[in-house]
Amino acid sequence: MPARILDGTRIANDIRGEVAAEVKTMAAAGVLPGLAVVLVGHNPASEIYVRGKVKASQEVGLYSEQHTPTETATTAELLALVDDLNRRDAIDGILVQLPLPPQVDAKKVLMSVDPAKDVDGFHPVNVGFLSTKRPGLVPCTPAGVMEILKRSQISVAGQEAVVVGRSDIVGKPAAMMLLNANATVTVCHSKTHDLPGVCRRADILVAAVGRAGMITRDFVKPGATVIDVGMNKVTDLAEFQRLFADRSIQNARREETFRAKGSTMVGDVHPEVAEVAGALTPVPGGVGPLTIAMLMYNTVKAARMRRGSYVPELSSK
Ligand code: NAP
Repeated sequence: MPARILDGTRIANDIRGEVAAEVKTMAAAGVLPGLAVVLVGHNPASEIYVRGKVKASQEVGLYSEQHTPTETATTAELLALVDDLNRRDAIDGILVQLPLPPQVDAKKVLMSVDPAKDVDGFHPVNVGFLSTKRPGLVPCTPAGVMEILKRSQISVAGQEAVVVGRSDIVGKPAAMMLLNANATVTVCHSKTHDLPGVCRRADILVAAVGRAGMITRDFVKPGATVIDVGMNKVTDLAEFQRLFADRSIQNARREETFRAKGSTMVGDVHPEVAEVAGALTPVPGGVGPLTIAMLMYNTVKAARMRRGSYVPELSSK
């Protein structure tokens, strides 16, 4: 039986709706949560991401502003900008879009963000809060993974979870969140021996590698839940055909789009996994939409936490 497809777009829309309602309530009480996005220079991918974040902020009713220092900005200039945003009460969340230009000390800039406004959840103070299970701001993409599991009624407690990838942004925080939710967690990386064998132990397999279609059916225990965080742009026709050899109607449609656009977005999980997994997030339309939805949630959460008020959990629909 083909895997149940976990619809990230629908889940993200539900979360955005909940955040919009919360923003309305807060605004009526005189607090409008505010998000500042810092975009340095003209990285085309970053410009697209930032546009999406600003648009989503407007849609849920947040106050948002964008700061666009030039490509030649120095570390000192960015530190001064972040310092100003740290001090302003109208700003609850600060997001410094990565990558920063090479002359900038990115770690120093990220460290300078007030942890209470660190809506990306990257500051070591927030990393520490997560690993000690204290309230704090947590990274958006892995938080989105947990929302997908929760809202799809996939139980985590007591399950074997395997996370492939150990980045600070996805792999490590995803592993920590799964552990906090009482899964038995294994983290894999490029030096892991017998990766398929380790992955086959998983009831919940999270792929955050950055390699198109690397997780094939022999990595997956039949019936497992597979969460595909990967976002890989495939432009090569031969690679496209390797991934989408099966000529089903769905793939024929994807091929039409690929030929028209010259590229398609592919996850780390090979499409054939749908024949073995019990549940699977698609790419696009799986984890991706959750990242921005969770950023909106984090901004509201930061606004609440900074004022010492109750932070409502997201609904567990
Ligand atoms: P990253 O920093 O490059 O980390 C990749 C991880 O995968 C590393 O830990 C690396 O191991 C591991 N890895 C690489 N090749 C491997 C192999 N052959 N076998 C086992 N492990 C291997 O990437 P990231 O930032 O975590 O992102 C991962 C993917 O998620 C990318 O496709 C990215 O585009 C996507 N992503 C999506 C969203 C979203 O919103 N959906 C957000 C963020 C990222 P080592 O540590 O040993 O090098």
